[in-house]
This record gives sequence, structure tokens and C-alpha cells, in this order.
Amino acid sequence: PHRPTPLVAGNWKMNMLSADGRALAAAVAAGAGSIAAELAVCPPAPLLPVVGDALTGSTVALGAQDCHAEASGAHTGDVAAVLLADLGCRYAIVGHSERRQDHDEGDEQVAAKAAAAAAAGLVAIVCVGETLDQYKAGEGVAVVERQIAGSIPAGASPDRLVIAYEPVWAIGSGLVPTNDDIRAVHGAIRARLAERFGDDAHGIRILYGGSVKPGNATEILAIENVDGALVGGASLKAADFLAIGAAA
Ligand code: PEP
Repeated sequence: PHRPTPLVAGNWKMNMLSADGRALAAAVAAGAGSIAAELAVCPPAPLLPVVGDALTGSTVALGAQDCHAEASGAHTGDVAAVLLADLGCRYAIVGHSERRQDHDEGDEQVAAKAAAAAAAGLVAIVCVGETLDQYKAGEGVAVVERQIAGSIPAGASPDRLVIAYEPVWAIGSGLVPTNDDIRAVHGAIRARLAERFGDDAHGIRILYGGSVKPGNATEILAIENVDGALVGGASLKAADFLAIGAAA
């Protein structure tokens, strides 16, 4: 089947001030022209306007790190998906393991957020991944299959969906699963997506995330059913992020 255009998304997490965000976005935009993969950057929410401005005229997409499950209302401190769309976002990450841990988000809430993102016209990047204990117990595939079943909303549209497989123990640790591990999990995700979406499942990008760097990107991105990367630490340096984009 036809391979979708790879997506390399940078998750800037809770880093930088506004001038840094503007400069990083401008540097990514300046280098993006020669890269065939789609690039996206996901800054802290208050920097979305500044970063969006710096990306004007480039092919680099803007994304958010989270959104609320409701369209509007009494949710102090939260951000609605419609506002993210209004600010120029194409993507919203939902269910990142740091959100699942820090804010006790479960699959049901992640699915509600993915639905809200899609309803606002965004593409949800739904994150799944096992913990180290689960990995050691050989439960990685089963955990991810359970999260996939629970975190994709009923009635989801395949063109509003990206999956990111991020083993919790590989995030920010410098540790990476073996190629066989990644192949097995991505293959299992594709199979579950095919059960749900039929042939359309082949168009859904399945990203790998967890300690992706320029030095390992080529190898990881060549694995079957790896359609791009979600990049944390290495997305904070334009040259590293662009090198990963060039490898996709
Ligand atoms: C992430 O948290 O999405 C991530 C992949 O982080 P890192 O690349 O730093 O492991």
C-alpha cells in the first residue's frame, strides 16, 4: 500500500521564553524547504501566536501539546481546541505520557480530547506507550493495544488521526527499544487500526517517539510502519530537528 507522507513533529514541552520560541521557529522554517517530510512544531500554548507568526509563509505546521475535551466553558486554565484552530494549529497532541502522569489522564479522557480536536478541524496526535515495568513483563504490545482501543474516539475519522507510539521509558532517557520491538508494536497498531478503519488505516501515520536523535533517526524511520517521529529533546535544536526531518 501507498506510504503516507511522513510527519516529524517537535514537542517543545514546557521550555523556553517567547524570544527563544520565535528564533527556533524561524530557524526550523528556514531549513524546512528542502525536506520532503511534513514538519510540525508544538510550542507551549502561550507561544502559539508568536511561533505561528514566525512560521508564516513556511511549510512547517503548528501544533498544540494538549487541548480540553469540551468546546468551551468553565474550565479555568484550559485551552479549547477551537481556539487552537483559530490560532493556526493543524495538530494537537493528546494523551502524552506526561499528561497521563501529571494530570491523571486516562484513555477515556484522551479519546474525548481527540474527538474535540477533530471537531475543531485539528488532527489529533494520540500518544500511547508502555512503562518500563510493563515492557520488562513483556506486556508492551498488549498495553498499547488497550490504549489504542480506548484512546481513539468512537466515530473517529482516519484523516483527523495520527498515532504516536512513545514507550514511557524511552522518553528523555536516551534509551530506545530494539528495531524488532518497534516493528512489533507498530505492526500491532496498524493491525488494530485496520480492524477499525479498513483500508483507510494505511493512510494513518504511526509515529515513533522516545529519544529520537539525528544519530538514530535513519534507522528508526526505516522500520516498517514507522511513518515519522515525535521528537522532544532533539526538537529544541533546529539543526537536530531538521536532520531528523531529512531522515524521514
Ligand atoms: C516526547 O516526549 O514526546 C519525546 C519523544 O521526548 P524525547 O525525544 O526527549 O525522548
